[in-house]
Amino acid sequence: MPTHRVLVLGGGFGGIATAVTLREQLEPGDEVVLVERHPTYVMGLRKNWGVLDAAAIDEGERALARLIDKRIAVLHGEIEAIHPEERAATIDGERWQADALVVALGAQRAPEQVPGFSEHAIDVYGVEGVAAAREAVAELRPGGRILVGIFGVPYPCPPAPFELALLLTEHLRQRGHDGEVEVFSPLPLSLPILGQAGCNTFESRLDVAGVPFHRSHVASRVAAGGVAFAPPSEGAPAPPDRSFDVLLAIPPHRVPPVVFESGLTAGKPWVPVHPRTLETGFEGIYAIGDVTMLPLSNGQMLPKAGLFAQREGEVVAARIASHFRGDSATAPFAGDGACFLEGGGGQAAQVEGGFLEDPPRVVMTEPAAEHLAAKRAFERERLEAWFGA
Ligand SMILES: Cc1cc2nc3c(=O)[nH]c(=O)nc-3n(C[C@H](O)[C@H](O)[C@H](O)COP(=O)(O)OP(=O)(O)OC[C@H]3O[C@@H](n4cnc5c(N)ncnc54)[C@H](O)[C@@H]3O)c2cc1C
Repeated sequence: MPTHRVLVLGGGFGGIATAVTLREQLEPGDEVVLVERHPTYVMGLRKNWGVLDAAAIDEGERALARLIDKRIAVLHGEIEAIHPEERAATIDGERWQADALVVALGAQRAPEQVPGFSEHAIDVYGVEGVAAAREAVAELRPGGRILVGIFGVPYPCPPAPFELALLLTEHLRQRGHDGEVEVFSPLPLSLPILGQAGCNTFESRLDVAGVPFHRSHVASRVAAGGVAFAPPSEGAPAPPDRSFDVLLAIPPHRVPPVVFESGLTAGKPWVPVHPRTLETGFEGIYAIGDVTMLPLSNGQMLPKAGLFAQREGEVVAARIASHFRGDSATAPFAGDGACFLEGGGGQAAQVEGGFLEDPPRVVMTEPAAEHLAAKRAFERERLEAWFGA
């Protein structure tokens, strides 16, 4: 029997980072079990690349079984229930008891919430949709319209749909194609965390790139070749339908049902956590990453991003290790971070700052080649640290 066992539920960005840090900080006799339904991991940022480049997903994919070399027990299976009061989970019918439990189950895509989505939209946030999107873009008719649609908030990586539109526009122009790319969002601003002034600057960049942005477009239904919208607020008129040849869509997201059913959301849409320690309302149970809701001082929520999931996981791992040793508490989650927005031309911008400051200090940098290099290094360094290559 191990001295202590930690169950990390979810082998995505945050779960892997947590398991690796735990292994570095726990005693050799302690056990780290990482539970995941997929046998491989690929970083979210590969999905936009995959719409343009057939090799992109495979090049960034790694087998989770490689974590066994780090003495992490990788359990390939379905988490069917979480029992927070007992620090346990049911995995493929078997009950697993732990001394600490980290819930890193992400945000689940919910295309079923929009009538017609599954029939007529291509879900570019799922790996399966990426290949379909690439084929549809390759077959776009002359003068055709690609609509990049945001069907609900919050969704992971707020800049990603805009990045996709900018990269696709460049892709079409480079091929002498006269098709157009447009984006719609239910929100009145493109990237609310930047505030009105920051959004004005970014939206004028979209304008210059020839990407129309349709704000306050709350999609209600998808039909063949068109999206219908609801009134954005009571008494306001519904925007007219928008037609498309190809609809590349970001579906609504929800908390995974297994998390909702566990009671960890306490009646909220996501798991509420202490913003500095990631503790839930249950002793020894932590939640990190996209599955959580972390309010900021300006009333917005911390954006869902892999870097935050990672840093939260590292904080949690250190806290669990020090608790097992009987030490006092460790460094809190600082809320600093950056996220990339590639805009074409071999450049990227960074949305960066101190998100937990009062008020949050978040800016978007000017696009530069060095930020694109930083984005590539961001992935490479993590894959090397976690998987060895
Ligand atoms: C196009 C795109 C671009 C992005 N670019 C960036 C970027 O540049 N920088 C950045 O920081 N972030 C980026 N992100 C966001 C980033 O991918 C997410 O925020 C991050 O993956 C969240 O990590 P997580 O661990 O919370 O959840 P995930 O990485 O989603 O992991 C959750 C895991 O839980 C598993 N799971 C769920 N339910 C069960 C169950 N019942 N049983 C077993 N397993 C289960 C899932 O299979 C999944 O692997 C991007 C995302 C997208 C889609």
